[in-house]
Amino acid sequence: MSDCCSGGVRLIYACSGSADVGQIADLVSRKLRDAGYARMTCLAGVAAGLSGFVESARGADVNITIDGCGTACAKKALERIGVMPASFVLTEFGIVKGKTPPMDEIVSSLCERILQQGEPSPGAVQRPGSRSGTC
Ligand code: SF4
Repeated sequence: MSDCCSGGVRLIYACSGSADVGQIADLVSRKLRDAGYARMTCLAGVAAGLSGFVESARGADVNITIDGCGTACAKKALERIGVMPASFVLTEFGIVKGKTPPMDEIVSSLCERILQQGEPSPGAVQRPGSRSGTC
């Protein structure tokens, strides 16, 4: 596994659900990856119990989940294998499930707010910040 970040191996997982907020979670995760925030990997691999994905999650310094809504499927998939991620739930950032089109401005704004949080804390639900930044 390679490091992608100054803080060690940091992996990010999107719920990538079928809802609009799930799509936004996927887009936000990809944008964060492109910004160098974390290395994106496959939640489905973890959920399927595939050993390579499970071992990578357990071996990472920080795992980050981006969930579209409070059902928090990505967070729970990590917890099932004994990994406590730093969890972002996008509806806590004010977007509404079923009423939020996956527009670039929304994705960028969420990405910026997550970056403004600074270092994610494993095992904690991350609360949204309000300042703007660049993403
Ligand atoms: S967290 Fe919400 S949007 Fe994402 S897969 Fe689960 S139910 Fe769907």
